[in-house]
Amino acid sequence: MNLPKLLLSSLMTGSLLTAGAQSQAEQAKKTEVWEPVPKVITAATVPGYPPSDAIILFNGDSLTQWVSSKDTTKAAGWITSGDVFKVKKGTGNIQTRRSFMDYQLHIEWRIPADIKGTSQSRGNSGVFLASYGTGDGGYELQVLDSYNNPTYVNGQAGSIYKQHIPLANVNRPPGQWNVYDIVWIAPRFNADGSVKTPARVTAFLNNVLVQNNVEVQGETVWIGKPAYIKHGPTPIKLQDHGDPSEPISFKNIWIRPL
Ligand code: MG
Repeated sequence: MNLPKLLLSSLMTGSLLTAGAQSQAEQAKKTEVWEPVPKVITAATVPGYPPSDAIILFNGDSLTQWVSSKDTTKAAGWITSGDVFKVKKGTGNIQTRRSFMDYQLHIEWRIPADIKGTSQSRGNSGVFLASYGTGDGGYELQVLDSYNNPTYVNGQAGSIYKQHIPLANVNRPPGQWNVYDIVWIAPRFNADGSVKTPARVTAFLNNVLVQNNVEVQGETVWIGKPAYIKHGPTPIKLQDHGDPSEPISFKNIWIRPL
């Protein structure tokens, strides 16, 4: 009689365990989300190259995605050579033909090996994350030779100019390529022009975090306090800085609107 009793007992225990497991699975299902399914894109085979859904802003073909900021009906007058282009000093800033709101941006830049000058007059350029106006209007992520070039720290490479000091100095020496990967969340405005939500920036320089979701205080200004001016989608602009140092180069620029 012992054997059937044992069998019955083990069967009961087994069924209880199964019921418990089923109940757990039902509980777990309540927190599963199956939609919306993220879109499928193909990753680049080479790190830093664009994924399949990126908009190519420059890959060596030409500067057709860029125009002069002074006169947006005119082509960007900077100098292309192979898969690189260089600032043509004195011709003014250039900006994207298209406008953007929130995005992920990849851009590479190189200070020439023969760079001269000091502080802000040594390889100065900039990525205006949203640009307005013909000059330096917008929000500038600084480009500068900060490898071995002391300057005010809220104006070195990786800074949101005059607003946020970079978290690290990870600049490569002149002659080598530096890489920015940037996430830009554009500001939103109320109908009366007041700020609804300020802009935010996350930026990596050479794969190191230099800006961690910082809040932008307004348009970049050289003198005084920044302030916002209402705008919608805007181009991205590159700076032709007025200093006399040797011109810097850019390559491999792509963007993913978010
Ligand atoms: Mg600059």
